[in-house]
Amino acid sequence: KSGFVALIGRPNVGKSTLLNQVIGQKVAIMSNVAQTTRNKIQGIYTSNDAQIVFIDTPGIHKPQTKLGDFMERSALSALDEVDAILFVVNATENKGAGDNFIIERLKKVHQPIYLVINKIDQVKPERLLDIKAQYEQSLDYQKIVPISALNGNNVDQLIEELVNHL
Ligand code: GDP
Ligand code: MG
Repeated sequence: KSGFVALIGRPNVGKSTLLNQVIGQKVAIMSNVAQTTRNKIQGIYTSNDAQIVFIDTPGIHKPQTKLGDFMERSALSALDEVDAILFVVNATENKGAGDNFIIERLKKVHQPIYLVINKIDQVKPERLLDIKAQYEQSLDYQKIVPISALNGNNVDQLIEELVNHL
């Protein structure tokens, strides 16, 4: 089994951290500074029965400049070429304008979308239910998967879900 999977989400939700956790090496540039990931940095997950090429998108934002507009369009075109999309959100922050902007774009794609609720190591179970409720109506998700990209909690289940769907 093999396929392409794109990671999408606001800056600092943990896309690069998740990519690093999955690939097991420092392939993406991690930073607290927003928008450090300028390119579609790819990492390849390989196991006995699967190969998944991950694409860390530069982020989809409301474009303020011509460059921003170009980056947004290239990130969007990447979405049409993948087999699945991981929409990564931050469990410690409420759904905001940045998420709504992404959701509007994701409504136009036909690939399965996984809602990945990240940073669950930082929230209580009640909070996780609350954040789930904030997102679950917005799109028709293939699956909602809470994880901690930092400590790896539930990341293997996420990979299993993806592999089963390829
Ligand atoms: P990106 O902009 O979406 O690529 O986000 P990064 O992967 O660069 O992560 C932004 C910050 O969040 C970094 O300081 C990470 O260490 C932190 N972070 C990412 N995932 C987790 C997580 O699961 N738990 C916690 N506590 N912090 C995380
Ligand atoms: Mg990044």
